[in-house]
Amino acid sequence: MKKYDQLLESNKAWAKAQAEADPTFFEKMAAGQSPEFLWIGCADSRAPADKITQTDPGSIFVHRNVANLVVHTDMNMLAVLQYAVEHLHVKHIMVVGHYGCGGVKAAMSNAELGLINKWVRNIKDVYVDHKKELEAITNEDDRFDRLVELNVVQQVKNLAETSIVQKAWKKGDYPHLHGWVLELKTGTIKKIYEIEAGELDEIDPIYRFDI
Ligand SMILES: [Zn+2]
Repeated sequence: MKKYDQLLESNKAWAKAQAEADPTFFEKMAAGQSPEFLWIGCADSRAPADKITQTDPGSIFVHRNVANLVVHTDMNMLAVLQYAVEHLHVKHIMVVGHYGCGGVKAAMSNAELGLINKWVRNIKDVYVDHKKELEAITNEDDRFDRLVELNVVQQVKNLAETSIVQKAWKKGDYPHLHGWVLELKTGTIKKIYEIEAGELDEIDPIYRFDI
């Protein structure tokens, strides 16, 4: 059997097991979704949102890209964000980074990587913003870990700086924004930053819109 056929076989077995455990499971799935969470994570194969949080399909709306970035010109991310906030009315958005992130590692190097450089340039900017703190860390692994954390914090702020999130805050009490980091060595997630809905103090006034 080809390796990819194994995926299809596993899928069949999963669908059968789900239907046996709950005969209405797929009927409910097909009827629609109302997830409470939007997860913006890294595309890394070791950081799957539902597996590591033991959640069922339907629980988390997911967007993943290299190094879990929230880039204001990224139409893909913005479309996901707008749909999640304005139509699904998610209560929480979590940006989830992970230690050992290849995207963050690439940003710390001077390697010429083509298109990847354009993307991780956003993380280089985070590095420069926190250069003093980062370069005071003599151990390279510790510096790498800290940049992973600072990158997550910046991406959470980037969310708060969107008109999509600010419009939602004006209307109500959601979404709350969270910055988490997954530790691959233990499989556990650490909370490192959060912005409660409406907390505009967390972002510079220049990013606040007259909404
Ligand atoms: Zn990564």
